[in-house]
Parts: sequence; structure tokens; C-alpha cells
Amino acid sequence: MQFQNTLEFAQKLDVGDALRKYRDEFHFPKIDGKKVIYFAGNSLGLQPKRTKNYVDEVMVDWTELAVEGHFHSKKPWWDYHERLAAPLAKVVGAKVEEVSVMGALTVNLHLLMVSFFRPTAKRYKIICEEKAFPSDQYMLQSQVRFHGFDPSDAIVEVKKRDGEHYWRTEDILAKINEVGDELALVLIGGVNYYNGQVFDMKTITEAGRSVGAKVGWDLAHAVGNVELKLHDWDVDFAAWCSYKYMNSGPGNASGVFINQRHLNKKDIPRFEGWWGTKKETRFLMKPEFEPTQNADAWQVSNPSVLSLAPYLASLEMFEEVGMQALIKKQKTIVVYLEFILQEIDQEVVGSFEVITPNDRGCQLSVFLHGHGKELFDHLMKNGVVADWREPNVIRLAAAPFYCSFEDMYRFGQVLKEGILKNTKR
Ligand SMILES: *Cc1c(COP(=O)(O)O)cnc(C)c1O
Repeated sequence: MQFQNTLEFAQKLDVGDALRKYRDEFHFPKIDGKKVIYFAGNSLGLQPKRTKNYVDEVMVDWTELAVEGHFHSKKPWWDYHERLAAPLAKVVGAKVEEVSVMGALTVNLHLLMVSFFRPTAKRYKIICEEKAFPSDQYMLQSQVRFHGFDPSDAIVEVKKRDGEHYWRTEDILAKINEVGDELALVLIGGVNYYNGQVFDMKTITEAGRSVGAKVGWDLAHAVGNVELKLHDWDVDFAAWCSYKYMNSGPGNASGVFINQRHLNKKDIPRFEGWWGTKKETRFLMKPEFEPTQNADAWQVSNPSVLSLAPYLASLEMFEEVGMQALIKKQKTIVVYLEFILQEIDQEVVGSFEVITPNDRGCQLSVFLHGHGKELFDHLMKNGVVADWREPNVIRLAAAPFYCSFEDMYRFGQVLKEGILKNTKR
């Protein structure tokens, strides 16, 4: 398709957009009475309008039933989380029993490390990407120290090549083979938060497992954004948050994947609590821990139902639309956004550069040459909500659920105006 940088053309793309009606299913912040152009869905997804009803339902049940709500609510609280597993399994390409919802992302990574990072004197190293999301770095460093190893020795970072903005799969595979029988774990962010790169999770998982290591993925920026086949790729474990592309609200519950191979084991190392025991016998309050047959065995505490409610509302939207349709729109809207950026870049002569490689989801990261925070501030002031990363990168996530093609066109105009204004000064 021959794209055009015009309002008419963008509107034509919107008319042909199968997901168009979902835009109205979300609340948009407004600036000067106009909906903002929202590019921050990789940080905090917009609120679906239906979410309030799900939360209200829990509040009303609590009002009217109090403790009885655990068993007698319309959606009983004691197994409320089970409603999320099936739709979530579809989003991440897992079997229903491999998925659970609990806690928070970094906490869950720590819990999963208890099971899947079991270093020995010989096999104790972890491979991750350089400059991983800080929380993941702190998590890995503290785990390594907890086991009595030195992070500078035990954590092996795969670097980007000089002058390149992305990681090469071949470099990751080479590092895996080099560390070889010292490698205990590969843990990488499936989609990099900074440059938006999607890692070749299938190939990397295969390579890590072939040298005898466990392979886990932090899917914070991947879930609800790109195609995942965790079961088929034979990933050992994964975790993600629900507040980015999953639109479930600030700090909301996390999700975990634990491969079927690791389920139904009484002897697997794991930190346990009462919500991981079989629900049939849970309230007999017996001293022995009898794990559930599924990933819920990793649940420690009873989950916050007020957090699960927005997550369920969001998952029902993913269920209605399906990842395939979302990815289809994502592929078009990101290419259109890139086209708009190229057009503007020609008009204002080399003012910026897209650093996201072609393996990507809906995020483009733009490196600004000779412009700084003032350009970003111009965008925010003019109704473009994006995200700024030092030293001078703007991250733009064109979330297919609610971003329109017209948004992309209008963004281009605001960007051009900002660059011209800054250049004049
Ligand atoms: C957003 C994000 C986190 C956030 O961790 P929380 O425990 O939810 O605060 C962690 N890791 C990555 C890669 C992220 O993108």
C-alpha cells in the first residue's frame, strides 16, 4: 500500500480498521477538551470503560455479603483468579494449567528464581541483555548474591555491537555456547523496554535449553503486544505485569507461566503458601502442603480480588478481539507511524532516527539529534502523551486497541511544528 501523510488518507485507514470501535471502549485523558494522542500504553495502558463495573461488582458484593462473598458472590472470590487463566493462556500461547495470576512482576520473578535458579559451584551463571530494565537487574544481582556468588562474575550481559542500537540473535547464541556448562539460566526481557526490539524467543530458548540451562522471559513489554507461544517454544517460566499493554490499571496483578514439565511436582524447590494448595482440601487447614495441579501452586497468598477485577475486564476484551486481530492492526499502524516519521524527518532534514529494529511490536523509539527535552515538552503540551528516556529518546507505543491512524498523522504535525520552533531559537 502506498501511504500518504495526509489527514484524508489517515481517516481512510481508520474507516478500514476492524478494531475501530474499540477506541470508544477506553477513557482518554483530555487536554483543551480534546482526547490526547496516547503513546504511553507501554507504561500504563488506558482504562477500559467496562472496568469500573467489574470493580463495582466486587465492592457491592463486599458491602452486601462481607465474608460470605468468598463463596457466594456472583463471581466467588476464593477462585476468582481461575477465571483469568483461560483467556490469559491464549494471550501468551500457553496451556490453561500453565498460567496463574498473582502478586507483582518483580516479586514473581524472585519467586520463580527460587524454583528455576539453582546454582551449583560449576553451573551458576546467568545470561541477560545489557542494560536490562533496572528492576530486573536488581532482582538478578540480589539473587546471585543471595546464593553467595559475585554478580560481576555470575551475570553475563550480552552487548549490542558498537554503533548498533539492537542486539543480534547470533551474539546471544554465541554467548550461550561460550558460557556452556557454566550456564544456569537465561533471563531476558522478551521485548526490550528501551528500543522496542522483540527477541527471537523461540531460538534463544532452544539454545539455552540445549546447553542444559533454564530459560525464563520477562514479558512486561511483550504480553498483549506481540505473538507469544510459550508452550510450543518450551520456555521454562515467564512473568509479566498487567498494567502496560494489558490495560489493567496501575501496579496491578502480574501473570506467570510455568511450563507443564514443572507442574505436579512435590519436590520442586518453591516458596509456598496456603493459596498454592489444592482448593478441595485448603480449608481443612492440614499441615501438609498439597500443591494444586497447575501453576497456581506458586500462588502464596490469596490474591487481591480488587486487582483481579480490572484484569478480568481487560482479558475479556482480549478474548473478544483476539491477539491475531490486534497484531494485524499493530503491524499496519506501526508501519504507518514509521512512514510519518520518515516524511517529517525529510521535511525537517535529519532531526531524528528510529532506533527500533524491524523485529518489533507496537513501540518505536526515536533518537533525537540536537533536540532535547524541550521537544518532548512541546509534544506533551500539545496533547501527545509519550515517554522520555535519557539522554534523548522518545518512546512511542501505538497500541492497536485504542490508537487511530489519524492519531499518527496528527502526531506528525505536532512533531514537525515542535522541531521547527526549536530550530528557530
Ligand atoms: C515495567 C517492567 C517492570 C516493572 O516491575 P514491577 O515489579 O511491576 O514494578 C519490570 N521489568 C520490566 C522488563 C518492565 O518493563
